[in-house]
Amino acid sequence: MLAQAASLLNINVVILDVGANAPAKQVVSPRSPGLAHIDGSFADSAKIRELAAKVDVLTVEIEHVDAGVLQDVERAVPLGVHPSPSTIRVIQDKCVQKQHLAAHGCPVSTFMEVEATAASVTSAAENLGLPLMLKSRTLAYDGRGNYVLRETTQVQEAIAALGGRPLYAEKWVPFVKEIAVMVVRSAAGDVASYPVVETVQRDNICHLVFAPLRSGDATIAARAREVAEASVKTLAGAGVFGVEMFLMHDGSVFINEIAPRPHNSGHYTIEACETSQYENHLRAILSLPLGSTALKVPSVAMVNLLGASDDMSEINAVVAHALSVPGAAVHLYGKSECRKGRKMGHITVVATSDAERSLRIRSLLEHLPTPSS
Ligand code: ATP
Ligand code: MG
Ligand code: MG
Repeated sequence: MLAQAASLLNINVVILDVGANAPAKQVVSPRSPGLAHIDGSFADSAKIRELAAKVDVLTVEIEHVDAGVLQDVERAVPLGVHPSPSTIRVIQDKCVQKQHLAAHGCPVSTFMEVEATAASVTSAAENLGLPLMLKSRTLAYDGRGNYVLRETTQVQEAIAALGGRPLYAEKWVPFVKEIAVMVVRSAAGDVASYPVVETVQRDNICHLVFAPLRSGDATIAARAREVAEASVKTLAGAGVFGVEMFLMHDGSVFINEIAPRPHNSGHYTIEACETSQYENHLRAILSLPLGSTALKVPSVAMVNLLGASDDMSEINAVVAHALSVPGAAVHLYGKSECRKGRKMGHITVVATSDAERSLRIRSLLEHLPTPSS
């Protein structure tokens, strides 16, 4: 999606990913003679160096990269690496990220470092109460590094499930809703935020996104945007950031985590905002003027197309239905294999009212495959 936005601005893109047919490589070819995409892993430091030698500006779409190598190549890339490797380093360890946010006065719920031992986890449960959210500090996505500890008898099972990775613990947050705000930060450090969205996760994975946020108290959205903007101001480098938050019963918000890149909760901006998160990411890292973040439709929803099994025809059936739903825009990612729980695409539905949006999205949900257990 970033490559699609770049293509419309005649920006020449070189992609580092595994295989000649990686999704982004299906979308753009490098336009200059002598440039070619790179076949390799974003975790391979030699490949990152090869990419850095080819480009004017380097950006990443995943935070699980080697921040040390990015720091090494930063000076050699004329317009730099965005977001800043120092930001990626802070964010990729979720405990360090929480410590950073807390130290800068951003609202986060109580958390503590734990060792991957029964004594340490039990002591965290005594301190923070049950249920306890035990999280892997690194390499987490789609809830795959999370374990909800309901009883202290589960301590060993929890440590085993999280695979001996470094851990930390969070107090359980009894939120009323999960919300998110995309924030774009220019190289000069100015920030602008997108409308607040409501996100609905199923099995820890984003399932639905709705915008704008509807709530009886109109000050909630303004406050959430302020918190999101303030948190992004504490991080160096340009680009878009996805700020995931918990909305509490009293209208207050806690930051759950920040993604230093275009984010699933911002996919809706492609059809529904004056400038998409992808175009604004490019504008930010290239020091171009930022575009308006305003909604241009009254109501929008997004549903993720998650594989229910290894059978892509189940996804194709929803897509076939979506083609007859007014306002529905299909995005399939061109991934080579469908797998249970894998994000294969998404559908955005715009509408002239929330009521119309509900009707449109409901008909799509009825056609979604049900995950097999
Ligand atoms: P992502 O794919 O968003 O990067 P992740 O693996 O980093 O996911 P989190 O965002 O930390 O995981 O948590 C996933 C989900 O688990 C959250 O969206 C929320 O629904 C729930 N959750 C996380 N932390 C807490 C908490 N402290 N209390 C209650 N629920 C939580
Ligand atoms: Mg995460
Ligand atoms: Mg998350």
